[in-house]
Amino acid sequence: MEKHHKFSLWYVVLGIWAVIFVHNLLFSALAVKIIPYSEFLRLLNANKLAEVAVTENQIQGKTVEGAGPDGKAEIFSTVRVDPELSKMLADHNVTFKGEIESRWLHDILSWVLPVLVFVGVWAFMMRRMAGAQQGFMAFGKKARIYMQDELSVTFEDVAGVDESKTELVEVVEFLRDPGRFTRLGGKMPRGVLLVGPPGTGKTLLAKAVAGESKVPFFSLSGSEFVELFVGMGAARVRDLFTQAKEKAPCIIFIDELDALGKARGVGAFSGHDEREQTLNQLLVEMDGFDPTVGVILIAATNRPEILDPALLRPGRFDRQILVDRPDKTGREAILKVHLKGVVVEDGLDLERIAAMTPGMVGADLANLVNEAALLGVRRGKDAVGMAEFEEAVERVLAGLEKRNRLINPDEKKIVAYHELGHAIVALSLPGADPVQKISIIPRGIAALGYTLQVPTEDRFLMRRTELLSRIATLLGGRAAEEMVFGDVSTGAHNDLARATDIARSMVKQYGMSEKLGQVYLENERRQMFIGSGLEAPPEYGAGTAEVIDSEIKAILDERYQKAREILAGRRDVLEKAAVLLLEKEKIDGSELAALMEEAG
Ligand code: ADP
Ligand code: MG
Ligand code: ZN
Repeated sequence: MEKHHKFSLWYVVLGIWAVIFVHNLLFSALAVKIIPYSEFLRLLNANKLAEVAVTENQIQGKTVEGAGPDGKAEIFSTVRVDPELSKMLADHNVTFKGEIESRWLHDILSWVLPVLVFVGVWAFMMRRMAGAQQGFMAFGKKARIYMQDELSVTFEDVAGVDESKTELVEVVEFLRDPGRFTRLGGKMPRGVLLVGPPGTGKTLLAKAVAGESKVPFFSLSGSEFVELFVGMGAARVRDLFTQAKEKAPCIIFIDELDALGKARGVGAFSGHDEREQTLNQLLVEMDGFDPTVGVILIAATNRPEILDPALLRPGRFDRQILVDRPDKTGREAILKVHLKGVVVEDGLDLERIAAMTPGMVGADLANLVNEAALLGVRRGKDAVGMAEFEEAVERVLAGLEKRNRLINPDEKKIVAYHELGHAIVALSLPGADPVQKISIIPRGIAALGYTLQVPTEDRFLMRRTELLSRIATLLGGRAAEEMVFGDVSTGAHNDLARATDIARSMVKQYGMSEKLGQVYLENERRQMFIGSGLEAPPEYGAGTAEVIDSEIKAILDERYQKAREILAGRRDVLEKAAVLLLEKEKIDGSELAALMEEAG
């Protein structure tokens, strides 16, 4: 940015210099002598004037020969003072004429030139800006082309998403030999939509398809189509397809399709004409191209639900491939891929690491491996081992440890009891996730302490008792504070938010409230309102809303009571564990479990 300022200043300086230069040049060329009006009158009375031109407030004229200092006629100019001038001029027989004041020179100097200077500066800055932020005013910008030699990604680099891969194999085969599939008159899908949560490897898969089939790969992100100027996005789509057809067989990959393909709004709510035009152009192009030429459109999104239905119609993105979060074996395979370049200890138990990381996607695991490797380096190890991975999992799950954040001892005590409250309730209830670690080392930006609970396996269903255990566990922190200190702190706000969320879902979505019965009360946003920012009104009356609220409260109250009961019965364990935790700052779940067993 600094550079721009310097450059525009330069232009201003140059402009001012030009103005002064031109000014001087013109006046010296005309050699007009400015004289006082009295001098003019003297010349007039002495009959030394040959001719004058009079404007409203200026007189220019020429003296007779010999009047000037070197004996020549002199051109002069003066300010007109006397309105009775014409009579005097006539008396002295001077040729005179009125003149409409011409200000062209003045105009150029005071107005046109500065404008020119500013336009110059502006154009210059615009050009710089266009260079800086890609696409701005870059009218002719073409879609990037990744040729196959740039893409060394193969299916081997993508792990844990085998079903998605299998589906894509056919696409690869088609691209390698388009004729084979169309021989019997069949048609390849025009568009393949990769759908799945962020970081599961959608972009990677698309690149792998291109890498495997060794065809050109045009890659653009949906947001790149949405331009500042209306009509540019559509032009870019047209341009992209033209280029692609020339290079067929090839792949066009549109990442983050949702940025472009959001459902078009209704009537007055549609605020984004440009995006709609671009989307329309995309639909037109998709319909227009001949599927036998071998251009395949692949797109990726993690929000298929907001896509315009027109995009998903047969003949467009008619093949949807789910790229889901990997399961345990999948995670193990992904770890293997990313550990290729990492020196690890012999016999590193990948299965155990996979078991510790439910819910993590490929991008998380890549990050995890990197964290572990960095930790290994920091610890001066020859190879990365289990300890580093355990630490890395904690880091990724809970944010970075901030050992140097100072917390006063009183607060530390509150945090310790609070966390133990969570842990003891979790260990006492059926179906709660096992407690792995309890720590009062601050992490991340908000958490002062944490209780790490790691499920033993991937979960797809939750039973009612498990949800209730989870709520009680979340409320256990505050219950412990209240019991031990007779007071509560703000530290529980996140716990409360999560507990309330679960209770609300139980009542409104899962039909787990006896009073309300088996109903679904969570109205989804309705299709037509998507993108308009308006939510549909609730589909139940005020009476029902009241029951919902009271049911949520009843669940939370009952669970809080339960947590207090458990902690009251475990008071001795709580005190003992608190001493231990305050001393060590971090204890294993198994240590706490042992304490509890000891106490019986
Ligand atoms: P998405 O496009 O689904 O958000 P990406 O394809 O951009 O995710 O993945 C980001 C990174 O995470 C990849 O570059 C890769 O290193 C890693 N990754 C994600 N999924 C996988 C996978 N299934 N196998 C191997 N690596 C993966
Ligand atoms: Mg992506
Ligand atoms: Zn808590």
